[in-house]
Amino acid sequence: MRRSSIPALLALALLPLTAGAGPFVVLDPGHGGIHEGAMGVGGVMEKSLALEFAFKAKATLEKAGFTVVLTRDRDVHVKLVERVAFSNGRRPDLFISLHCNSMPTRALRERFAGIQTFFLSADSSGEEAKRTALRENTEGAQAAAQPQGEDTLAFILKDLARSEAHQDSSRLAAALHARLLEASGAEDRGVQQAPLFVLMGMDAPAALVELGFIAHPEEGKRLQEAPYQQKLVDGLVAGVKDFLQARARAAAPVH
Ligand SMILES: [Zn+2]
Repeated sequence: MRRSSIPALLALALLPLTAGAGPFVVLDPGHGGIHEGAMGVGGVMEKSLALEFAFKAKATLEKAGFTVVLTRDRDVHVKLVERVAFSNGRRPDLFISLHCNSMPTRALRERFAGIQTFFLSADSSGEEAKRTALRENTEGAQAAAQPQGEDTLAFILKDLARSEAHQDSSRLAAALHARLLEASGAEDRGVQQAPLFVLMGMDAPAALVELGFIAHPEEGKRLQEAPYQQKLVDGLVAGVKDFLQARARAAAPVH
């Protein structure tokens, strides 16, 4: 065997399980089917907007040479546990769950706008993060890979301890958040931590993005407009690239 063929073989072994080249991303449009998510301006549903964003992000990422798969490509209900298993089975470079946020009362819905980006933690980083986690967790009675009867907090702590991806998840969330804000000009609601079921048990670096408040009178409308959607998508893609470049630099041998 010629020496030069060894790196080529190694590269082959590192290819994602699906066909195609380039970094491999799993996009997870939130909710679906009977789970509509939040309700927005003009009656738009979070599950529909999330899917629309996922399609657009997939197209833009593929144009940039990425391989992308979605956890759902239709209006169907996919359990949170199945989303995690789907991603782990495909071993992507990263996982992004796409959502829109909302507030419980009309007065709050008129006030709250902006982008929040989450990574997994046992504790919520504040009241806002806790509220979002409660809303996004309603579809699952417990965390994805959590054994029956095991305490949720204990499970999360164990999960975080074994997860080498956790450090990377916080970096992924920060990279996505910065670029999303830069591209959209939306209000900065911070990089947050919360016990989100769809991020638990995940092997890949994983983040959940709340792209905006769907029921805010202005932002809710903007979220449905194609030019603004593309700005968010461009921000998301730039964030993915930043994250992967930083990771590649960190992994490069020092000379
Ligand atoms: Zn959601």
